[in-house]
Amino acid sequence: MTNLGSRKARTAFAVSAVAVLGVVAACGSNGSNGSNDSGPGNSGDTASKVEINRQAAGDITTHGGAKRLSGDQTQAIADSIQRSKAKNVILVIGDGTANQELTLARDYQWGAGAQIPGIDQLPLSGDYTTYALDKTTKKPDYTTDSAASGTAWATGTKTYNGGVGVDVNGKPQRSILQIAKANGRKTGNVTTTELQDATPAVQVAHVAQRKCYGPVATKTLCAPDALSNGGLGSITEQLLAARADVTLGGGWKTFQETADAGEYNGKTLEVQAKERGYQIVRSGSELDGITQANQDKPLLGVFADGNLPRLWGKATATKGGGKEPAVTCSDNPEFGATPKLGTLTKKAIDLLKGNEGFFLQVESGSVDKANHDADPCGQIGETVQLSDAVTAALEFAKNDKDTLVIVTGDHAHTSQIIEVGSDTPGLTRTLNTKDGGLLTVNYGTSLEPGEEQHTGGQVRIAAYGPGGANVLGVTDQTDPFFYITDVLGLDRNKQ
Ligand SMILES: [Zn+2]
Repeated sequence: MTNLGSRKARTAFAVSAVAVLGVVAACGSNGSNGSNDSGPGNSGDTASKVEINRQAAGDITTHGGAKRLSGDQTQAIADSIQRSKAKNVILVIGDGTANQELTLARDYQWGAGAQIPGIDQLPLSGDYTTYALDKTTKKPDYTTDSAASGTAWATGTKTYNGGVGVDVNGKPQRSILQIAKANGRKTGNVTTTELQDATPAVQVAHVAQRKCYGPVATKTLCAPDALSNGGLGSITEQLLAARADVTLGGGWKTFQETADAGEYNGKTLEVQAKERGYQIVRSGSELDGITQANQDKPLLGVFADGNLPRLWGKATATKGGGKEPAVTCSDNPEFGATPKLGTLTKKAIDLLKGNEGFFLQVESGSVDKANHDADPCGQIGETVQLSDAVTAALEFAKNDKDTLVIVTGDHAHTSQIIEVGSDTPGLTRTLNTKDGGLLTVNYGTSLEPGEEQHTGGQVRIAAYGPGGANVLGVTDQTDPFFYITDVLGLDRNKQ
């Protein structure tokens, strides 16, 4: 019965797929580099004609005023599900950015009935599970960190918290970025954190422990990974060897460490980068002057010694703080001339676009770090940066018509929207919102700012463009590795 049913379904699918392919062949306009159509869908540019507007329809106090849909969505969603191959993929990550964090930013910055630019305009959306594995028992570890979660989507393999680009037994796993590069695609890796931090590191490195930024820490924390012990080297040394075309973020201080083995023994990692042919820029204005980035002259932009400063100043939650006068967030004076994530994303796309096709990962990393700090303003400011990055990616994709944009968080976090002015066993802060209302945020996994912890809920993943249907429903964090490499038409075994 089941077999018969599925055979019937398959036959019906084959017929409709042939019909669709016929249309595509007749149009003949999509096709560069691995974008041959396969599977159901439209000819490629239908999605760009879909305008998603999820603003509340009108006065939210009236009947129907708060609804976000302007009518039946069936055709818009059908038009948004395109062919399954794309020339380019842009994966945008909000570290520690799940539904509480998105809602908080929307409520504060844009209004409860408003849409988050970029993020809420993605037509296709689902959730993925994010659990890690326990290193010893190999059983699920229900609350992941950024190393295990990033390793999941970058390599398709679950690992233990702290593991970067390795499986639960410590064996290196190839990343999307490494595979894309081996297949002749251009690659980019952009973050607001140190480039050695877990999320950017999973695309370029394989180390036993996420803190192994440079040769010094690697010697003690990841001894078998050290070059002097015949390993692949520290995260920074592997980043330089991985040679993405575009690498932008923070973490300059590790580049001042000195290699103690290998071809660049006795030289700092900064000198190594220069000798390997990298163009190095340290400011937004230097970045503006860069016109190309490729394997002859890859670009390394490092804009801070550590993480990039956060866009907005702190408003740390305290015990009972939610009962204090409400706070309006303000700019962080330390941000200064730091390039914003939207700017970095645009620049990376400009440098990567071309005949080869590209894979680009972009991370707004300090949504997570401000969440750890119980700092709602820092957290929302970095979610605004995430929105800017998604808007830049979406703008490019809508014009390009051959680009898949995926937006997700790597794990859920501690911040919660709670009853206004209420006291909890945790740390609270009340904010003045865009609507002219009050909103209280609770951080309840620690009483020490700086020590708030991740939580284990499934996380939203949303998409626009060819192959975007793969995010629908419930998937796992390892799924993107497989469908991104498939959408790009990559041979996962190519060296
Ligand atoms: Zn974290």
